[in-house]
Amino acid sequence: MILIVDDTPENLISLKRVLETHNFEVDTASSGEEALKKVLKNEYVLIILDVQMPGMDGFEVAEAISGYSKARETAIIFLSAANTELRFITKGYSSGGLDYITKPVDMDILLLKVKTFYRIYEQSRKLIEIQKALLDEIEFRKKAENKKDEFISIASHELKTPLTSVKGYVQLLERSIDKGDIPTVKKHLQKAQTQLDKLNELIADLLDISKIESGKLKFNKKNFRMEELLDSVIEIIHQSNPEFKILTIGSADIEIYGDEMRIEQVIINFLTNAIKYSPGTNEIRIKLHVEGNKLYLGVRDYGIGIDPKEQESVFDKFFRVEQTAIQFQGLGIGLYISAEIIRRHGGEVGVKSTPGEGSEFFFEIPLSAPAEN
Ligand code: ADP
Repeated sequence: MILIVDDTPENLISLKRVLETHNFEVDTASSGEEALKKVLKNEYVLIILDVQMPGMDGFEVAEAISGYSKARETAIIFLSAANTELRFITKGYSSGGLDYITKPVDMDILLLKVKTFYRIYEQSRKLIEIQKALLDEIEFRKKAENKKDEFISIASHELKTPLTSVKGYVQLLERSIDKGDIPTVKKHLQKAQTQLDKLNELIADLLDISKIESGKLKFNKKNFRMEELLDSVIEIIHQSNPEFKILTIGSADIEIYGDEMRIEQVIINFLTNAIKYSPGTNEIRIKLHVEGNKLYLGVRDYGIGIDPKEQESVFDKFFRVEQTAIQFQGLGIGLYISAEIIRRHGGEVGVKSTPGEGSEFFFEIPLSAPAEN
């Protein structure tokens, strides 16, 4: 918007009319004092300022405006009776631009100047936007680079741990076989097997990440019964964590269209996290219901919970809550993969949590086949 400041009403009216016919938005002030009030309230691209006015003159107005942060980008065109007056233009003035036109005003020249200032204003706006986007991008890439380095170091450690165990059990196996101690051989074989399963899961997660990254995570969707899937998942989890009571609240006697194995992967991720992040507790509740065309499945634990500030980030790649990262092993990719799986089923994931009281990780997916995206 342009502000015209002139104490002569005829000048105001004629300037306003010309600018408005050229599609500029125009505001007016008939004194320096009124202009200052308006500049404080509104944002102007340009002020056309009469130099000779009773009360505050144009230069005084310009000087006062130079102190307003709101008007930092605002340009000024002085309207002066004589060129010489312009020597007095305040030195300290550092706004977007200054120019002058002598009276009587040549409208063509004024329009040319107005258009030029508008172009400069728009270009500088764009430059500021680009600069901000670049700064954001740089900051993001730093952060991402740091996270990647940290992830590689954690991942190598996580892979090495089960591998070292397997190596140890194989050595023990050799000795037990030499001794002909079959029960111990069986025990060590079982332990090596558990560590190999762990290794397998870690590698599968890492492969999923690279598939997501390259857009190659594929789904094999068909109809399946949700409650049947849930029963089998609960059994799997119960076998490795017999101390935990896993209760199901609600029901969903329906068929879902989706990739059963992938949905199972999400529920297992929620459940294993619920157990991992809830030391000293022994109950987990699975909430299941159908609402309209959607299925809701929530896994409620009574564990450490998550600070509200961190809740938004838990589904981000490589994210781990820093305060608890040392206490609990993990790579910070399970929830990221889960979120991607649910999103590719046209659904949403989320978490409700109170620190010290526990968390409920949930997903909602449409019952009917959604469009792939
Ligand atoms: P991981 O558990 O391997 O670190 P996830 O992607 O599964 O990775 O989880 C990301 C982070 O979210 C975890 O590091 C943990 O800080 C937090 N988190 C996940 N589930 C829970 C939960 N049930 N209770 C508290 N914090 C959780």
